[in-house]
Amino acid sequence: MAQKRLAACHRRELVNSFTRFMGHLKLHIPGPTEVSDKTFEAFRTPMIGHRSQDFKDLYAAVMPNLQALLYTERMVYLGTSSAWGIMEGAVRNLVSNGVLNCMKGAFSDKWFDVAKRCGKQAEALQVDWGSPILPEQIDERLATGKFDAVTLVHNETSTGVMSPLYDIAMLKAKYPDVMFIVDSVSSLSGVIIEFDKLGIDLLLAGTQKAFALPPGLSVFTASQAALDRAESINNRGYYFDLIEFQKNAEKSMTPSTPSIGHIYALKSKLEEIMAEGLDARFARHAKLAQMTRDWALRQGFTLFPEDGYESQTLTCVNNGAKPGGREIDVPKLQELMKQRGILIDGGYGRIKGKTFRLSSMGDETKETMQSLYNLLDESISQL
Ligand SMILES: *Cc1c(COP(=O)(O)O)cnc(C)c1O
Repeated sequence: MAQKRLAACHRRELVNSFTRFMGHLKLHIPGPTEVSDKTFEAFRTPMIGHRSQDFKDLYAAVMPNLQALLYTERMVYLGTSSAWGIMEGAVRNLVSNGVLNCMKGAFSDKWFDVAKRCGKQAEALQVDWGSPILPEQIDERLATGKFDAVTLVHNETSTGVMSPLYDIAMLKAKYPDVMFIVDSVSSLSGVIIEFDKLGIDLLLAGTQKAFALPPGLSVFTASQAALDRAESINNRGYYFDLIEFQKNAEKSMTPSTPSIGHIYALKSKLEEIMAEGLDARFARHAKLAQMTRDWALRQGFTLFPEDGYESQTLTCVNNGAKPGGREIDVPKLQELMKQRGILIDGGYGRIKGKTFRLSSMGDETKETMQSLYNLLDESISQL
């Protein structure tokens, strides 16, 4: 009874906030994620000239926090595009002879296609959706000597699978000349990634996932070896030319006019991240992902990712994509959740409807996640 009253109370609270935001649905999809009022407030700071001292001061102010977050002494670049701009740029800048694209879901699979569209010699290392990429699989392919670059999606957002980045990075010692390109779009700032220590050559992330900023800005960094490789490559274009980014970053500038509003928002967010503390932030993400997996199992679902490789920032619930799914009506669940003011994801690509995904990245807390589970329980009981 008390629980019912609590649920009704939660619903009233949500309906109230729902009307307050005039139809704003709270995002629990794995990107874009919910953006706080504080971040929007920073975003709307009046514009400045992008070649002014004010801009240089702004970039210089975010740089140390970005370097702390990426565990690097390298310059961190700011790209005005969603992550795909940098993902394509990385291929154009760093692949000379051939690239091995590690594929385990929608985003990583598409990178292979993008590499081919850039005119690069590309080969696929494909594992089943739901499985991670393992170091021995990469090792076996690199041993052929055919590749001078590898692309890896750390956290495959479509399947909720996180590959063992630290184990994979050990291969760098064996293949020092192979460019190690890592997409951390849905993991950076939610999970520790020590750029310098791991020997990654290019690490990139869009900011509309774990950073909880509006879409349109990317953060990335590159090793000296990556810059040397880029120097030797023709046809790397202009907009995503690493050499341009490095030259400009040395003067606290970007090659072209960036989304300045995003950089104000990023500054505000990085201050929050540092105030929370990196370890506390990573622990919070791990905890919330664990709570979500526990909720799914309590509800009688299984998880889509292979045991032990579940993402720390989102949960991909199996609903019949693999044996053991409950096979609920996912579009109906999404609709019932919308009526409660919350947007959840109904599965991506070919596992749409056979999985659904719940994001716990960004600004979520135990309380906001608990309220999500309560509303999911209510909605599921109405199916
Ligand atoms: C969202 C996402 C992308 C694509 O990002 P865009 O912002 O759409 O360019 C790439 N990789 C991963 C892992 C993602 O989650």
